[in-house]
Amino acid sequence: MVILSKVWEGFLDLLYPEGIYCYLCGRKIHDTHTYGICPGCLGDFVLIGDKSCRMCGKHLDSGDICSDCRGFRHSFDRAYSLCVYDGRVKEWIYSFKYADRSYLARPFGRMMADRIRETGLDRETDCIVPVPLYRKKLRQRGYNQSGLLAEVIKRELDIRNAPYALQRKRNTPPLSGLSRLQRLETMEGAFELKRVRRLAVKNVLLIDDIYTTGSTVNQCARVLKAGGVARVYVFTLASGRDI
Ligand SMILES: [Zn+2]
Ligand SMILES: [Zn+2]
Repeated sequence: MVILSKVWEGFLDLLYPEGIYCYLCGRKIHDTHTYGICPGCLGDFVLIGDKSCRMCGKHLDSGDICSDCRGFRHSFDRAYSLCVYDGRVKEWIYSFKYADRSYLARPFGRMMADRIRETGLDRETDCIVPVPLYRKKLRQRGYNQSGLLAEVIKRELDIRNAPYALQRKRNTPPLSGLSRLQRLETMEGAFELKRVRRLAVKNVLLIDDIYTTGSTVNQCARVLKAGGVARVYVFTLASGRDI
């Protein structure tokens, strides 16, 4: 796995030499630009700072808990997101997931790692676990975008990664357009914990790409806790506004 990720990194260096072209728009940049992203693209990220829901981490214009979390108890302990799922960020994430731009895991993962460090989550957790894809979907896509993010974050923060700790037992339909209840029903029993004893960790940092109502990470957190994990924190690349 270590060797594979090194090969992957080396391959990326050949294809996308750091600091020459912006990862997102392809424009030429100076090598000093943070994350290999030009200032124009970097400015399009609405980063979520402390003005966010204290439960799910969604960006809030006012208050400290979103309407979604007010009436609902999550199975995870706390979730955070790097940025708001909106505008060009939406397009970039779409291309990261579906248009084979898997190399975007590198700038996205680094940005996430820096924010994780800022929140102190890296000191709270002893293992990273990415939300898995269903086997068939993984074969079709060729990669698990959350797994790639977790791999970059692991390297940046030097935290153990357990990419196969969770497994998706069945394929689930897309959750967009479904109500909270329908989402919960859809995700019920979708995951199982593998190699429980080998995991032997106290606190887990669950990594995913997008947070909407939290149904997916909630189900993962429930399974992890049933397997003996004490605390489950969630960090996603982006989350929808208070919906
Ligand atoms: Zn750019
Ligand atoms: Zn919330």
